Amino acid sequence: MTNKELVILQGALEKLQTHFKHLISSPDTDLDKVAGTLDQVVDRLSDNYPYFDTDYAGQMLKPPHTIARLAYSLALYINPNNHALDGGRASSVMEKEAVAQIADMFGWREHLGHLTGGGTMANMEALWVGRKIHPTKCVVASEMAHYTHERISEVLGLKFEKVGCDLNGRMDMKALEGILNTTQVGTVVVTLGTTGSGSVDPLIEVLELQKIYKFRIHVDAAYGGYFKLAHNLSMYTQAQYETIHLADSLVIDPHKHGLQPYGCGCILFKDPQVGQYYKHDSPYTYFSSAELHLGEISLECSRAGAAAVALWATMQMFPLKKRGEFAQGISRCHEAAMKLNGLIREDDEFITVLEPELDIVVWAPNGESFSLISEASNKIFEMTAKQGLHLALIKYPVHLLPAHWDGIVKDQAYVTCLRSCLMKHNHLEKVEKIWKGIKSAYQH
Ligand SMILES: *Cc1c(COP(=O)(O)O)cnc(C)c1O
Repeated sequence: MTNKELVILQGALEKLQTHFKHLISSPDTDLDKVAGTLDQVVDRLSDNYPYFDTDYAGQMLKPPHTIARLAYSLALYINPNNHALDGGRASSVMEKEAVAQIADMFGWREHLGHLTGGGTMANMEALWVGRKIHPTKCVVASEMAHYTHERISEVLGLKFEKVGCDLNGRMDMKALEGILNTTQVGTVVVTLGTTGSGSVDPLIEVLELQKIYKFRIHVDAAYGGYFKLAHNLSMYTQAQYETIHLADSLVIDPHKHGLQPYGCGCILFKDPQVGQYYKHDSPYTYFSSAELHLGEISLECSRAGAAAVALWATMQMFPLKKRGEFAQGISRCHEAAMKLNGLIREDDEFITVLEPELDIVVWAPNGESFSLISEASNKIFEMTAKQGLHLALIKYPVHLLPAHWDGIVKDQAYVTCLRSCLMKHNHLEKVEKIWKGIKSAYQH
């Protein structure tokens, strides 16, 4: 971090302070004690992987942009609560504007939506509304969908069924039809960008089935949503993104690909009429707000207004425009994944799993059996970490492995592969360096 960042924050704080008398520390705060405690915090925090670095090419972690960090910090001095207009006057308006821009990215002029603590809460809200409409019917999601859908269904008292996937890690339409023919389905969760492999379910075909079976479609794009702006996806993938506006609800996580700190998910409904299901009477919160406030259309009560401020500020700098700077960054992530996958494909020492649809690459060192491959994956994971290059592991289900894995001895039910989320905007320039690191770890 540069001092300039802190100078900018200080300047902004000083300006904000002209509107509020006691914005910074109250005079009775013991700042020496604060400094001492913070020093202890530094020691504790040093035990971390460098998530913000391009050498971190493992789990789904992307650093918040500087503007998000500073806007969040600035708002934190006021600490607004976006539950209600009373508690977060300015930041509630900023939230509504930010959410409208996200809805607009998917082609929704009209919508009902708001920010949430994260994707899990946002998905819960979508499935909860689904339950209000189809109280006794089942929720279905693919076997590669996020694990929380099953748990959320349990919390909501809804039946849940897993739909099998094809060899691209996408929901299998024959399997879905089989379930639709035997089970009353209220909501089909369509994942656009699975967390494991970045696979994109066939939304277009699910929309066709919806015409016959009349279920709700919830798109879980917590991770993949911002790829709506990419210009270099495959024709299949692009086409699924083009039809998102036909779904009933959608989740996208600004804290995944949207340059935000954690604590920022987003739920959107196509039909604003679903607002009726949120109605409640709390004697505490409704006194002075004439306008409909966010607490009236949200399952959560208190939420960080600072998250909305950070998102709003980030979108001022990086509007969600096709071919804009942010969109170029998203496209580069896909390019980085394709590039790494290409290097892996051309190397006999390694084996690819599937063509990256978004920016996740899954692969493994070649070997005679699944157990030997799994062992070698673990070794590479440890060796690269020692060199300061951080990958992730995934236990890939054997029945989803493509044909070029057929000759390998299937001596266990899964195979441990390596997984890289190349979701930093400058990962593309580092692919060769990452590959060199992997190769040298393998050869040791
Ligand atoms: C990350 C993720 C979630 C869960 O979101 P959180 O923000 O971690 O609660 C749900 N679905 C998908 C597809 C995800 O990638």
